[in-house]
Amino acid sequence: MPKKQINSKSTKYIFITGGVLSSLGKGIASASISLILKQMGFSVTIMKLDPYINVDPGTMNPFQHGEVFVTDDGAETDLDLGHYERFLGHSLNKNNNHTTGQVYFEVISKERRGHYLGKTVQVIPHITDEIKHRIKIFDGEYDFVLIEIGGTVGDIESLPFLESQRQMNLELGYKRVLNIHLTYVPYIRSAGEVKTKPTQHSVKTLMEYGIKPDILLCRSESKLPKDVRQKIALFCSVEENSVIEVPDVDHTIYEVPIAFAKRELANIILGKLGMPIPSLELETWIKFVNRIKYPKNEVKIALVGKYTKYRDSYKSIIEAFIHAGSINNAKINLELINSENLNEDNIEEMLAGVEGVLVGPGFGNRGIEGKIAAIKYIRENNIPFFGICLGMQCAVIEFARNVCGLPNANSSEFEKNDFNVIDLMDEQKKIKDKGGTMRLGAYPCKIKTETKAFEAYKEENISERHRHRYELNNSFRDVLESKGMILSGLSPDEKLVEIVELKDHPWFVGVQFHPELKSRAVTGHPLFINFIKAVLNKKKIEHKD
Ligand code: GLN
Repeated sequence: MPKKQINSKSTKYIFITGGVLSSLGKGIASASISLILKQMGFSVTIMKLDPYINVDPGTMNPFQHGEVFVTDDGAETDLDLGHYERFLGHSLNKNNNHTTGQVYFEVISKERRGHYLGKTVQVIPHITDEIKHRIKIFDGEYDFVLIEIGGTVGDIESLPFLESQRQMNLELGYKRVLNIHLTYVPYIRSAGEVKTKPTQHSVKTLMEYGIKPDILLCRSESKLPKDVRQKIALFCSVEENSVIEVPDVDHTIYEVPIAFAKRELANIILGKLGMPIPSLELETWIKFVNRIKYPKNEVKIALVGKYTKYRDSYKSIIEAFIHAGSINNAKINLELINSENLNEDNIEEMLAGVEGVLVGPGFGNRGIEGKIAAIKYIRENNIPFFGICLGMQCAVIEFARNVCGLPNANSSEFEKNDFNVIDLMDEQKKIKDKGGTMRLGAYPCKIKTETKAFEAYKEENISERHRHRYELNNSFRDVLESKGMILSGLSPDEKLVEIVELKDHPWFVGVQFHPELKSRAVTGHPLFINFIKAVLNKKKIEHKD
C-alpha cells in the first residue's frame, strides 16, 4: 500500500534495461533497488513491461515462461513480480505488469470504437502513448516508480517500450527520470582479463534509441578493477562513480541489496535526481540473510512435480522454502523429483533420506499417479506433507481411494466417472476461453480452530491467492470426514473446501490455494514455516530415540 499521498509532480521514474544477454538478473537487481529505496523511507512501486504479444503469461507453458505469478486482484503476471513482492514486502496488482499484447489489444479496441477520429493509428504516438499512460498509472501515489523493461536492448520486440522511455526522459527531464542499464562484463580466461566491449556495444545501441544511461550495473564474475570501470565510464559516457559492479553473490539473491548498499547505489540514484539522502536501514534484512548463509540445522525436502526440469516453474515455492528456512534457522536441501518417474514400487527408494515432501501445483494428467503413489507412502509413513493446489487435490484422491474405499476416485480433469472427488464447479463448466478464466486471485477462507492450519496462521480469517478450475466435490465431504480427513479451511459461505488435513499424522496439510505467492523475505509464510518446523521436530524426536 502506498504510504502517503505525494505531490503528483514529484514521482520519480527509474527505468531498468538490460544489455548483452538475458538472465543477468535484471529482475533481482530491480527488486533490490526498490528495497534499498524503501529502506530509506521512500514509498516505492515497481512494474515490469513485457515485450511479448501474449496478453498475459497465463496461457504459456511453464517450461517456456516459468511460474505464473498471480496477484490479489487475479492478474496472471510475470514471475519477476514475485521477486518484487518478496523484496518490497507489499502486494502489487495488475497495473504492475504490462505486455505488448495488452497494449495493442487496448489500442486496437479503441480504434474499433472510433476513438482515434479517423487518424492513422501508429506505433508513435498511439502505441507509445498507451505505454506511457500505463507507466504513469501510479503518478502521485509513490515517491518512486521503477520500470523494468523485459528482454535485451536490441530486440525488435522491446522497441516501443524503449521509445516510450526516451519520450518520458524528454517530457519529465533528468530530475524525474533516471536510466539504469544492466550489462555483462565477461572474464575471458584465455586472455586473463575482463572485456568491456559487449557493454560498450550495448550502450551504443541504447544511445541509438536516444537513451543515455545514467548508471551502469555491470554484472561480472569477479571484482571490476578501477581501470576497467574508468574505461567503461569513458567509452560509455557515464560518470565513473556510476559504473557499479554487480559481482556474483556467494549464497543467495537476497545478498544483492546488501551489495548495492555497500556500493552506495541509492546515494548515487538520489544524488542524480537532486534529492536529499536519508540513512538506509538494512539491519533486519542483514540478519535474515545471515540466517540463510549460516544456518544451524539442515533438512532434506522433496518437491514432487512434473515441471522439475525448469526450476523457474516453481520459483515462488523455492523462495518460500528459503524464507521458511531462514526463520527456522535451517538450510533446506530441496530435491526436485519428477512425478512421472515415481510408482508404488520405487517410491521408498526415491524418497530415501527425504524428511518432508511438498507435492506441487500443475495441470493435466501426466505424472498424477506418481504423485498419488508418493502421497500414499508419505501418509502411511508419517512423513510431513504439504500439498499445494493440484498437490492437495491428489491428496484427496489418494485418501478417497485408499482410506475411504473408493478405488476409482479421481479428478474429472483426468477421468470423468461417478467418483470425481475433485470436480469442476458449475460456473467453470460454462467457460470456453482459456485465458484469464480460472478461479484467480485472493479469496477469503475461514479456518477451524484446533487444527494444524490454525496453529500456523493463528487466526480464523485469512485470504490467499488462487489459480485453478477444479474444487473438492462437496458430495464427497461426508465420506472423507467420516474416515478422518479434516476440512480445516472453508470459504466463508462454506461452499468451497480450501484446506484439508489429517489428524494422526505429524503434519499433513493440503491447500487449494497458492500460499507460496504470499511468502515474503524476512517474514515468510505461516504454512511453510510450520511445515519446516514439523520436519525439524520430527527429526529432533527421532534423534532422541
Ligand atoms: N489443475 C488443477 C485445477 O485446475 C490444479 C491447478 C493448480 O495446481 N494450480 O484445478
